[in-house]
Amino acid sequence: MELRTDLVEDLMSRLPQVPREAVIKEDLLRGGLAFDDAALTDNENGDIKPKSYFIFSFDHRTLPELGTAALRRPPEEIVLTGGPYGLRRTVVSVRTNPDSPYRVRADSDGLLRLFLDGRPIADVGLPPMPAYYRHTLANGKSVMEVAPTIQWGYLIYLTAFRVCQYFGAKEECQYCDINHNWRQHKKAGRPYTGVKPVDEVLEALEIIDRHDTDRASRAYTLTGGSITSHVGGLAEADFYGQYAQAIEERFPGRWIGKVVAQALPRADVQRFHDYGIRIYHPNYEVWDKRLFELYCPGKERYVGREEWHRRILDSAEVFGPRNVIPNFVAGVEMAAPHGFTSVNEAIDSTAEGLDYFMSRGITPRFTTWCPEPTTPLGRANPQGAPLEYHVRLLEVYRATMDAHGLSSPPGYGPAGPGRAVFSVSSFMDTLPSADS
Ligand code: SF4
Repeated sequence: MELRTDLVEDLMSRLPQVPREAVIKEDLLRGGLAFDDAALTDNENGDIKPKSYFIFSFDHRTLPELGTAALRRPPEEIVLTGGPYGLRRTVVSVRTNPDSPYRVRADSDGLLRLFLDGRPIADVGLPPMPAYYRHTLANGKSVMEVAPTIQWGYLIYLTAFRVCQYFGAKEECQYCDINHNWRQHKKAGRPYTGVKPVDEVLEALEIIDRHDTDRASRAYTLTGGSITSHVGGLAEADFYGQYAQAIEERFPGRWIGKVVAQALPRADVQRFHDYGIRIYHPNYEVWDKRLFELYCPGKERYVGREEWHRRILDSAEVFGPRNVIPNFVAGVEMAAPHGFTSVNEAIDSTAEGLDYFMSRGITPRFTTWCPEPTTPLGRANPQGAPLEYHVRLLEVYRATMDAHGLSSPPGYGPAGPGRAVFSVSSFMDTLPSADS
């Protein structure tokens, strides 16, 4: 059987224009990694920042199947350097998979290394516990629960609504475990607030602002499940907007405000902007029409793909095209049984979507699909999409940006290999840095 090392090195040599760091990072994101117990954290009581489960599980096993990693969380992210591929500093979000050929463990000198197929391929750095995680809110809730930070501290991730009103097999997106993740945390007795009160969010931000003395945190994202009716008496734009309004009143301009929400009608989008949001992510999920209808049945039924796209274009008139950054889930194009069966077809389809938006000045971005086991697509495709798809996507993404004269989108921190902090895909590791 082919070793994963052979696959990785074959792609590195066939696509030398894609940074090696990105090949390793994409493989870790699509397939996960394992940890020796000694490389796990002591949750919020230790010196390493633990995985916060900021929205989805992003694991390849359910919590009860993770063993020690369910009791002592893995780190939120790891940073890779050095090794036989000479990796520049690469920040990778942690997706746990006990069966992965990648494993973090100490070598014979006691140094943490990333091993692939039993061979050390990088030094591993772990995120230090931020000072603000050592404080709690007056009601005892942790900052990690209310306002976790990711991307090496750059982004405060505010999942204000921990479930989605697209519910059940006929409505949930077929790759999304937001509702299952909420259930599994509740079942495990972990604190996991369904709807975060605005005053708790403000209190957590107060703690972050006070203790983030080097001002590593630069942006916040407001997000959560889609709201098809109301939460707390508010429809989607006003529900998520109320947090932005409160944050901008209390901390004007301290962070770049972003919202991940549905593609809403223009008047609602205008309200987001009026509330102080500066970047809008109306995620289009997957470009292909048939796959969108199959994979996003709730969105298709309530809004519809064509209307969704029209609203994305409309929102560019409110936010400016640079500040509309719709996400897609890279890899689901190739999920069995309905997805493309060849990498070429999948790349061509994805490229068509990139071109559609980029030709209008809108820069999509993507997260690398993690086939979580409780989702229909994850169950059917535990290995995720082929690594070749992910690596070639990076190439076509950059080429399409170049063709339309675009540069890396705002609100993602620095671009470029060795500099990027965006941790759930390597598109920022692949783009040129501002001064290169
Ligand atoms: S809209 Fe789809 S992807 Fe978004 S939270 Fe709901 S089910 Fe998940």
